[in-house]
Amino acid sequence: MRAYNFSAGPAMLPDDVMLTAQQEMLDWHGTGMSVMEMSHRGPEYTSIAEQAEADLRELMGISDDYAVLFLQGGASSQFSMIPMNLLNGKTHADYFNTGAWSEKAITEAGRYTKVNVVADAKPSHYRTIPDKVEWQLSDNAAYVHYTPNETIHGIEFANIPEVGDTPLIADMSSTILSRPVDVNRFGLIYAGAQKNIGPAGLCIVIVRKDLIGKTLPGTPVMFDYKIHADNGSMYNTPATYSWYLAGLVFQWLKQKGGLQGMAEINQRKAAKLYATIDGSDFYANPVDIRYRSWMNIPFTLANSDLDKQFLADAAKEGLLTLKGHRDLGGMRASIYNAMPEAGVDKLIGFMSEFERRFG
Ligand code: PMP
Repeated sequence: MRAYNFSAGPAMLPDDVMLTAQQEMLDWHGTGMSVMEMSHRGPEYTSIAEQAEADLRELMGISDDYAVLFLQGGASSQFSMIPMNLLNGKTHADYFNTGAWSEKAITEAGRYTKVNVVADAKPSHYRTIPDKVEWQLSDNAAYVHYTPNETIHGIEFANIPEVGDTPLIADMSSTILSRPVDVNRFGLIYAGAQKNIGPAGLCIVIVRKDLIGKTLPGTPVMFDYKIHADNGSMYNTPATYSWYLAGLVFQWLKQKGGLQGMAEINQRKAAKLYATIDGSDFYANPVDIRYRSWMNIPFTLANSDLDKQFLADAAKEGLLTLKGHRDLGGMRASIYNAMPEAGVDKLIGFMSEFERRFG
């Protein structure tokens, strides 16, 4: 039986994608080879890689002004690669601090440059985002970095921040492909794959071509976007199987009505779960209603002594990995694209029943 897995990542993948992968496991399209066994430079794998990139470009509306890179090292490597590649002789970069992942990006950038924190949500314990009037964008910043969706705190920007001509960088690890986005507003978008793209081991970077090729002296070759762009992400051996599975996910998304279709489902899934939490004194979500995440929904029980029981009973129902992040406690339901609406409905039914028994 397939469980409903609410993990923040690695997260659920669509059944259809897994079944296709299973079917193609030993013999991809009559080649007698698994995709795992193919040379990354052979014609078979080249067709898989190119199709995946073309589908991603179509889904997100990515123009030829941008390179799409399929890298390794996780989103965490991007925390270093961004300053290494994009400082471009400038003395500082602007960063929004809206949660644990922003903090990590800021700490890493601080090894390379001066960081100006544009807005700091920490005083609110990451429960709200400071109003635009309070933002302190600096003059002449190399770029502005933000985290549209904070996976741990369950807080997200309602809109893309307005930053003028300064390149805007977004860590979209936990929100990419969940809804349409105007890529042209960004200098660079990056995302670890293991939430909304595919299996771990792959990190996608979408970067405006005119921004790359200006690395800090001493930048390792593997950390240079231009090298990867010039080599079609095959300067070295890429994460071939993760790239292939990401391609299957892109095809699945296209069948589902693309990102507009996903947005409607995702918004509905999140709205009904928040309605359940808000409609009860037994459950609570602390995030400012204007900035609540569609993807990661932390919640607490009025009596935390019941947490263990909640998790154990949920698991018996096939509702898995609901334990909150270790920094926050309580629960967290991550409901990315591949979480079926039926999974959210089942969780809601379980929560109501648990409240009836223990509330
Ligand atoms: N940024 C965000 C928003 C994340 O959620 C995560 C992973 N949970 C990361 C960065 C780090 O990703 P990785 O583990 O791929 O380095």
